[in-house]
Amino acid sequence: MQQIADFVHEQAVRLTQSTIGYIAFLNEDESYLTMHTWSNSVMQECTIPDKKFVYPVEKIGLWGEPIRQRKPIIVNDYLAPDPLKKGFPPGHVEMFNYLTIPVFEGERIVATAGVGNKDGDYDRSDVRQLTLLMQGLWNLMQRREGIEKLRDHADQLKKSNEMKDLFTDILRHDLLNPAGVVKGYTDILIESEEDEERMKILQTIDRNNEKLIEMIKSAASFAKLDTIENIEFKDMDIALMLRKNVESLKLQIDERGMDIEVRPDSAYMAKVNPMIEEVFVNLLSNAIKYSPEKERVIIDILGSGDEWTVTVTDFGPGIADEDKPKLFERFKRVDKSGVKGTGLGLAIAKKITELHGGHIGVEDNPAAKGSVFWVTIKKA
Ligand code: ADP
Repeated sequence: MQQIADFVHEQAVRLTQSTIGYIAFLNEDESYLTMHTWSNSVMQECTIPDKKFVYPVEKIGLWGEPIRQRKPIIVNDYLAPDPLKKGFPPGHVEMFNYLTIPVFEGERIVATAGVGNKDGDYDRSDVRQLTLLMQGLWNLMQRREGIEKLRDHADQLKKSNEMKDLFTDILRHDLLNPAGVVKGYTDILIESEEDEERMKILQTIDRNNEKLIEMIKSAASFAKLDTIENIEFKDMDIALMLRKNVESLKLQIDERGMDIEVRPDSAYMAKVNPMIEEVFVNLLSNAIKYSPEKERVIIDILGSGDEWTVTVTDFGPGIADEDKPKLFERFKRVDKSGVKGTGLGLAIAKKITELHGGHIGVEDNPAAKGSVFWVTIKKA
């Protein structure tokens, strides 16, 4: 930046046919001025012993005037008596004419520049040249500052992402492992326990520990999904995938005596990452969990344009309109009565769907009480 300022300074002196010049910047409240570049000749000719670089505006003489008067100042007969002059300190460079300008950003003066000792008079075209040059320099400096700020911001983001990765690792390894050990020993104790009271306590420990494990796993996978930007897609038959998902939930389905109807009976090819299964499994297991026993759940796929819409329809309690948008946020649970859950399932489902460029939502079941959860996916 110093090089650019030096270059602008040189051009300012050359374009206005001057022999000396300076560029200085102001602080926020315009009270102090910092000298940035001076002509070499000023430095050489100026023999004042204490060449300061920061000056209070109220104390400086002639070159404080464009700041105080907030306009360019031309003086072509400097040697004539001038009420603004605070006099040359002994040893100061000799000057016979000069032009000084303020540089504005909005209402604020951010810099000032001056040139002097032109062989002839300074006029409006010199004012224009100097102002344009200085405005250009200021804009460039601002842009530079903007880029640096962006860079800082990117660094901070990187650091906070690293923190998040670390936190996810801690979740996965340092919390999941001890919880697994607790589970192992509780299971052993449950197997050999004969006292009914103690058995109840052990089962409570086991249930809560399982909840903890489930929570850690979901939170870790949610945090991991947050750092993924792009995923790979392949052509997969989502109807086949849905049938397999129903198979994998057989135990849960049989336990509650549910009747799951998978309507699509041919291949429905889509561009997906295998992760999409997590979305289907979540919608399906929610439909099973939250419906009354022995109810129906219908899985269907509808096509429109370049998208498939997978629907999971249940005949359960349904979801109030005001709760519908909240469900997809982290840790939002509507009815916790008796049903186990972390409140992260739909948030994870939403994230995975978005990574696929799709949408997810819920509507009332038009046929009866209950809900229709839907997710859109790109066709292959
Ligand atoms: P979890 O099931 O672990 O609580 P989810 O994010 O999967 O978390 O679901 C959030 C909430 O949405 C649930 O707690 C439940 O209140 C509600 N919900 C989800 N699916 C259904 C459904 N099919 N019928 C009624 N309520 C549902």
